[in-house]
Amino acid sequence: MAGLSLFGASPGDGGAGSQEVPGDAPQCSAKGCRADAVWALRWNNPSLHPPERRKTWAACEEHLEHLSAFLSMRGFLRETERLPA
Ligand SMILES: [Zn+2]
Repeated sequence: MAGLSLFGASPGDGGAGSQEVPGDAPQCSAKGCRADAVWALRWNNPSLHPPERRKTWAACEEHLEHLSAFLSMRGFLRETERLPA
């Protein structure tokens, strides 16, 4: 952890940064789905990303199970977070 402070860019708050979900009303990440997302899936692919990195997928109620199963099957899923309404 200590080495990271050199860059001063570790996003400890999980807020700002290079999240893929834009501001207010993110859409579901499932293919072809345009529903408003109500869940955020935080994931990390250890073979591509440093361990502290989080990618975010958004999911509607309908696709939460599908997307989280996809990620957890691969061991990528880290957190599932309910988005504020
Ligand atoms: Zn969906």
